[in-house]
Amino acid sequence: MAKEEVKVLIIGSGPAGYTAAIYAARAGLKPVLYTGGQPGGQLTTTNDVENFPGYPNGINGSEMMIDLQKQAERFGTQVRYGLVTSVDFNCYPHKVVVDEKDEIHAESVIISTGATAKYLGLPSEDKYANRGVSACAVCDGYFYRGKAVAVVGAGDSAAEEATYLANLCTKVHLIVRRSEMRASKIMQKRVMNTANIEIHWDTETEEVLGDDNGVTGVRIVNNKTGEKKVLPLEGFFLAIGHKPNTDIFKEYIEMDETGYIKVQPGSTKTNVAGVFAVGDAADKVYRQAITAAGTGCMGALDAEKFLVAREMERALVNG
Ligand code: NDP
Repeated sequence: MAKEEVKVLIIGSGPAGYTAAIYAARAGLKPVLYTGGQPGGQLTTTNDVENFPGYPNGINGSEMMIDLQKQAERFGTQVRYGLVTSVDFNCYPHKVVVDEKDEIHAESVIISTGATAKYLGLPSEDKYANRGVSACAVCDGYFYRGKAVAVVGAGDSAAEEATYLANLCTKVHLIVRRSEMRASKIMQKRVMNTANIEIHWDTETEEVLGDDNGVTGVRIVNNKTGEKKVLPLEGFFLAIGHKPNTDIFKEYIEMDETGYIKVQPGSTKTNVAGVFAVGDAADKVYRQAITAAGTGCMGALDAEKFLVAREMERALVNG
């Protein structure tokens, strides 16, 4: 097992991780970044990003992540393709194991492992991914303006996404699997008071339908009566929750009941000194590339401050 010491180890390669890398590298901290299993993160599953400031004509999600990687490398970040498989935050420097074999001893760790949107698991969802199927209305809703769409889910996200889309689209079908919604009362009220949202209660999605140009409809089934229906539409949005990619940190890092990492308000500090959390792994509310990048910057600044303070302590002890 190879062993290595690094000052700043960044786990994850979305906008949060690369922004942390850019800042840490420019501060001379020689960060090492492990990309994880999906280099570039969730944005690589998005065609066009139009809401990231600085790209007046929009940019393809994968291209944007390549640009961010290049920018991080330009200042000396080592970007490595590998998956962090376990950590030990009880010792210091913190121990991080990559691909179950390489051991890194890190003076500071920035967790930017993101979150993964949940999908229903239908083969047709895969088939039309990025061609009408999306898990982010704020990212992709604009492409469906003036068209009919569906949202699956019944939580706050589904309610929020349905009302967001209702402003852009002619019709929003909200597909709810039970006869009630989990969303807060105020959000439910908003959905129910929006004229172009139609709620399909006790309803599940059987298949997303489409052709060479993408989604053309969805076949739904009422799980009480068995009645099936085809809804003609062009956008199919999943809002059935996200799963933060934080399982490997559970033993050490404080999280909420759904696995989002708890950070001290106004900072990226976790309960473990020298371990910082940025991006969607610690954010279940905003979940945008720009907010992830913002917290990535905060993480690098927090790590730098932590390292400087440790250096000073060490200097004092050594006289
Ligand atoms: P939730 O876990 O709250 O809700 C997920 C919804 O998806 C549930 O209604 C669930 O149905 C439904 N669902 C899950 N699996 C399936 C499936 N296979 N088929 C059909 N439906 C399914 O996730 P959210 O993303 O909505 O919210 C996560 C957290 O973030 C919550 O705490 C929420 O309050 C918060 N949030 C707050 C916002 C705000 O305050 N503005 C905005 C967005 C989120 P069922 O109810 O039947 O289990």
